[in-house]
Amino acid sequence: MSFLFNNYSRRPIHLISGKGTIVQDDKGKEYLDFISGIAVVSLGHAHPAIVETIKKQSEKLWHVSNLFESPQQEKLAATLTKDTQFSHAFFCNSGAEANEAAIKLARKHTGKHVIITFEQSFHGRTFGAMAATGQEKIKQGFGPMLESFRTVPFNDPIALSAAIDEDVAAIMLEVIQGEGGVHEITAEFADTIAGICKSKGILCIVDEVQTGIGRTGTRYAYEQTSLVPDIMTLAKGLGGGFPIGAMLGTAELCNAFGPGSHGTTFGGNPLAISVAQTVVNHVFDVTFLEDVQRKSAYISGKLEDLLPAPFEVRGKGLLLGIDCKEDVTPFIRQTEKAGLLVVQAGPSIIRLLPPLTVTQMEIDQAIGLLASVLHETLIS
Ligand SMILES: *Cc1c(COP(=O)(O)O)cnc(C)c1O
Repeated sequence: MSFLFNNYSRRPIHLISGKGTIVQDDKGKEYLDFISGIAVVSLGHAHPAIVETIKKQSEKLWHVSNLFESPQQEKLAATLTKDTQFSHAFFCNSGAEANEAAIKLARKHTGKHVIITFEQSFHGRTFGAMAATGQEKIKQGFGPMLESFRTVPFNDPIALSAAIDEDVAAIMLEVIQGEGGVHEITAEFADTIAGICKSKGILCIVDEVQTGIGRTGTRYAYEQTSLVPDIMTLAKGLGGGFPIGAMLGTAELCNAFGPGSHGTTFGGNPLAISVAQTVVNHVFDVTFLEDVQRKSAYISGKLEDLLPAPFEVRGKGLLLGIDCKEDVTPFIRQTEKAGLLVVQAGPSIIRLLPPLTVTQMEIDQAIGLLASVLHETLIS
């Protein structure tokens, strides 16, 4: 008997502490955490700089309403938008909330209501974000969805062009579909979206809730494409484990929201902002990002050597997927037993999301465990 709603399928493991990439359960068993709370704990568990930030800020001020000015929010906004086309930020508490803000901003600015999204996409669980999500199983049982979302196959320029008309306010996408199975946007499709947005005055919204803040080896994943988004949403890795979300937008959009257009009680409170500032200061360092790229190349190279076809390794940075072309549930149970936590993305894909701070030794251990379990369970 549980006192909790049954909306998660939980593993029977009770994790009680963590340091860096290692987490420990209540029986003292240690695991390499290659889930990181689903791309959240970007600097690893209990990073000393974050612990210090929380200690310091919690002794000063935790929460103050957005009725008052916030130099901390200004500073974080400046850091996030530096050397980008974005100029303004709105802070909230989660990815779904950031996407709600993006949907509202795009509709208000354009005066139009249709937003094109893609099959297998994931944008969150609130009514707007759920309607935007291109997966039927997520919408089942909830009655009529919000109108105005048009779902198109991903990486299909012809289908996208056919879906464009005067009512389209925005195209909303993930640069790498995380939950949907680690599907990367093709260069051709990014060019198509960029071209349509430019020629038709349609807004481009990138949902970087999972891919943003260094996860793919650059500050934001869109920087590795030809996309020039008007709006970007962030959450997961931004707070390194402390709940925070953000929406960034260009100067052109800033007048669409006036006082009272949108808001949140908790969004951007000093505690959350101070933690996010610490995370971003670490991650946006050029050598830190280069290190993420180096580790990524190392892991994909090793996996490709170890796992012959039909296995396929996809993704960028430390958002990697191994498509095993068969149900990976039994495999994931085995790795768990062996002391490695990984997460599924779609039925056949194992997703690797270690902290960005993962060490070379931990990578080698994880690959060793993966290889031996894969060979026992799947390659037989
Ligand atoms: C996780 C995720 C969301 C939802 O974020 P929540 O914080 O759970 O609301 C939205 N978009 C993408 C791409 C995500 O990976």
